[in-house]
Amino acid sequence: MASKRHVNVGGVQIGGGAPVVVQTMTKTETANLTATMAQIRTVAEAGADLVRVAVPREKDVEALKTIVRESPIPIIADIHFNHTLALKAIDAGAHCVRLNPGNIGGPDKVAEVAARATAASTPLRIGVNSGSLPKHLHALERENPVEALVTAGVEFVALMERLDFTDFKVSIKSTNVPNTIAANRILSERIDYPLHLGITEAGTKWSGSLKSAVGLGTLLADGIGDTIRISLSTFHAEEEVKVAWEILKALGLRERGPVLIACPTCGRLQFDMDTVVTEIERRLEAYADPIEVAVLGCAVNGIGEASHADFGITGAKDEGLIFSRGKPLRKVPTEQLVDVLFEEIDKYATSRKIVVDERAAAEGAAWLQANEDATAMTPERLAALEKAEAAAHDGGDDVLAVLDEDVSPVAGRRFTRA
Ligand code: SF4
Repeated sequence: MASKRHVNVGGVQIGGGAPVVVQTMTKTETANLTATMAQIRTVAEAGADLVRVAVPREKDVEALKTIVRESPIPIIADIHFNHTLALKAIDAGAHCVRLNPGNIGGPDKVAEVAARATAASTPLRIGVNSGSLPKHLHALERENPVEALVTAGVEFVALMERLDFTDFKVSIKSTNVPNTIAANRILSERIDYPLHLGITEAGTKWSGSLKSAVGLGTLLADGIGDTIRISLSTFHAEEEVKVAWEILKALGLRERGPVLIACPTCGRLQFDMDTVVTEIERRLEAYADPIEVAVLGCAVNGIGEASHADFGITGAKDEGLIFSRGKPLRKVPTEQLVDVLFEEIDKYATSRKIVVDERAAAEGAAWLQANEDATAMTPERLAALEKAEAAAHDGGDDVLAVLDEDVSPVAGRRFTRA
């Protein structure tokens, strides 16, 4: 169930049907204002809607006043163990405070924070990670880690409601992807508060991005989750933001800048597509339009599955083709493909029209005809054949599996290679 309630963090709505909010966390010492503000500006430019800063010391809460004043995006104060810091963070103007009601010193301290947050209209994020469950849930955690996470979340919600405080979002996170998926699916059925999603300590840029994409992507595709943070072991917080956006763009949940599609290459490739694709991806970062740009390694398929792309290139050994929305625009020497592609994109950015030079387009079409081979069994054609075959066998009917939320979504589906 998608959350019905919402919170407002410094003007950014989370939950209640609002677009999924991207957040990250600074990795600097918060009190180092120069470094912290530089990182906040970097992540804001990369597309973070919100940013969280750690507030473990008095000097950090002191710095928070300046950070809140100067930040281009709302600030969430991240507090553990010390409820006094939570009170001071609210006083410092933090747009939201994140805390674990289980480790802040007992219900009385939580009540004090809730009262101060109510007075200041400051929302809270409450929740727990698999590593910091309350003591009374440790036995359950050993037996059923998913139920332990959900129970902690539900108990915290009940505590806040007893305190008459409902201006919060909830997170229950685990380092384990299936457990995070299962726990959030269950929690989303039991409460209607906005959910913050993340995979705790996901790992490096490579493995952490993949784990996050699988875990968060699965939940988001189910309509669960209102804000996401990708936790990566890198000092460059903007990398977390980029990954978050790629997940949202892949699911069609939000648009931000161009979408790049590229073939996987195969033995038909005759130019350095690796370098070309990297260069195109780098240069596209400067564009705000959500255009789709395709890179095909060869012309054997024609424009093929990239025919919907706003712009694309088809490379070859000496010459390649620039195309747009299924139609050739011009052929150019391979080494000029990237520059000419961006010339065409820039023309579009200025005129909002695809500019076609009929003579160049006709030359391009002739080149394409000479280079395509409708009989070659390319990866794309094999995939199309497999799809047609599967559709013929299924009769086109999709059978939806009934999910048993009591078990991990991959239970019983694991296998071991001998
Ligand atoms: S056949 Fe397909 S995968 Fe192979 S290089 Fe051409 S476009 Fe790329």
